[in-house]
Amino acid sequence: MTGRAAHGTVAGAVGPVVRAVGLDDAVVGEVVHIGRQRLLGEIIGLAGGDATIQVYEETGGLQVGDPVALTGAPLRARLGPGLLGATFDGLQRPLDRLAHAGRWLLLPGAAGEAGAAGTTGTPGGADARRWRFEPGRRTGDAVVAGDVLGTVVEGPIHHRILVPPDVPGGTIRDLDPGSYGADERIGRLETGTGPVDLRLSHDWAIRRPRPARRRLGAERPLVTGQRVFDMLFPIAMGGTAVIPGGFGTGKTVVEQALARWSDADVVVYVGCGERGNEMAELLASFPDLVDPRTGDPLLARTVLIANTSNMPVAAREASVQLGMTIAEYFRDQGLAVALLADSTSRWAEALREISGRLEELPGEEGFPAYLGSRLAAFYERAGRVEALGTPERIGSITLVGAVSPPGGDFSEPVTQASLRLAGTFWALDVGLAHARHFPAVGWTQSYSLYVDALSTWYADHVDPAWAERRAEAIGLLAREKQLLDIVQLVGADALPTADRVDLETARLMRETFLQQHAFDPVDASRPLDVQFGLLRAVLAARTGLRAALDRGITLETALEAPALDELRRARYWAGDDVEPRLAELTERLLALGGEIGS
Ligand code: ADP
Ligand code: MG
Repeated sequence: MTGRAAHGTVAGAVGPVVRAVGLDDAVVGEVVHIGRQRLLGEIIGLAGGDATIQVYEETGGLQVGDPVALTGAPLRARLGPGLLGATFDGLQRPLDRLAHAGRWLLLPGAAGEAGAAGTTGTPGGADARRWRFEPGRRTGDAVVAGDVLGTVVEGPIHHRILVPPDVPGGTIRDLDPGSYGADERIGRLETGTGPVDLRLSHDWAIRRPRPARRRLGAERPLVTGQRVFDMLFPIAMGGTAVIPGGFGTGKTVVEQALARWSDADVVVYVGCGERGNEMAELLASFPDLVDPRTGDPLLARTVLIANTSNMPVAAREASVQLGMTIAEYFRDQGLAVALLADSTSRWAEALREISGRLEELPGEEGFPAYLGSRLAAFYERAGRVEALGTPERIGSITLVGAVSPPGGDFSEPVTQASLRLAGTFWALDVGLAHARHFPAVGWTQSYSLYVDALSTWYADHVDPAWAERRAEAIGLLAREKQLLDIVQLVGADALPTADRVDLETARLMRETFLQQHAFDPVDASRPLDVQFGLLRAVLAARTGLRAALDRGITLETALEAPALDELRRARYWAGDDVEPRLAELTERLLALGGEIGS
């Protein structure tokens, strides 16, 4: 860019916000390097040549008069082979996976690499691996943005190498099989505006949603292995969920369970502003875990982004946008991606802090007035889509955002704004967590807007009676709530026997079905047919208990039936025959009166 003044100077700094002068030719969103340390920053406001810059690194050593260099590029991610299994900071610099006591270290060389022309990513810098590329197109083929050029096998994933979405169509001049570094040229494209080099990786601005051909509706669930989610409050593949919950209610355990057990092809886990040692524990546990579907290590389909509480606050925004961009990249390959963000509240708090430094007019509870629109723009990037280009590919991003309302008060702005955006609401209840009922998902507050859209899938793949049994379970739990209010007033003995049966069955529902032990090797995740078998068994207990009472058996005697004891242990049953065993148990429970009578 001729005549473009590429330098300005620092005029002042407050925390993560720097003011600079002399940047007449800058644009909002442009990445800058500040000071001799070349700190990475992004222009977030401009008036004439005066720029406001949010800085992604500690600004401690900066001085007035330090140089500010424009890079001409927005904050970008580098997308290509090598992402899977990696751990990055919020600016896509590779982190040493061996975090020590929650302190993260940039891999040697990574710190200086960041920001080559504004590119945040450095998979090529710190990652010297080479990848075997198998072309699917030939010299002379005409291609357009999003077309699959060929594949690289990366662990369990057939990594499709795409014509980048912002490259105009053209004719392939050469494209050769071989072994390449992620940033090496694999071929050339002749376009109307000149030749374009093709590489295994390409860059994409993290705040710009990647285009798709069209958006598709919900069709099937993201199976989580968690009974309360899959059976009662499902999330669609390509849907969105929020998990609000006060401190210690189990948000992180839920997000990590989803990272392990959900049936996504690729998991992108963003640890945003939470404690560093939680991420370190997650990483420490991951290498041992095996994907039940493929037998490959779970880590091989996972990308971890850590912007923990001890890292600079401005990079939190970048970390969630980076996670989303990586998720979109895998979506565009036709894969099902789960994007797990823990916690979006810390990101919102970072927005509040920066906004405060900018002396913007504060909205509710000091959050900026644009909080809702920022969150909406983020949630809108999730979804199920038909990707650009050929061959046809359908990919999805399922977004699950944890929210940490101060004091567990769901009326606060971040919970409220998120609730309006998400299709599934998994409300964590502090009372349940205190009672050690985990996952502490409150069944009266939680909901899923996907139930109707998914009921055909459940009918076809789980059981035709799924929607009916689900409604029965939710009805029973609601009935329990009413009955407990009455018991408070008059005592349990005053209740008619049918109501006492409901209370006992609801207890079974809570203790044997809703509770699920995240750290038990068997109970941690269960297949859908086993989940449904257990649900049906619990509901059968209600029928059986009623019949027993009708035959004159007392409730106390009926509750001692061996079949009920087995039901209480059934969630820990292991092996291939759990489903038939549950079916048999269900028959016995239905005939409970006979079992006791005999
Ligand atoms: P948060 O992230 O909401 O602050 P955590 O996810 O760290 O809370 O959970 C706090 C604690 O609750 C965990 O360390 C664990 O002891 C317990 N816990 C949460 N969920 C479960 C679960 N599904 N099974 C067993 N224990 C759980
Ligand atoms: Mg947590």
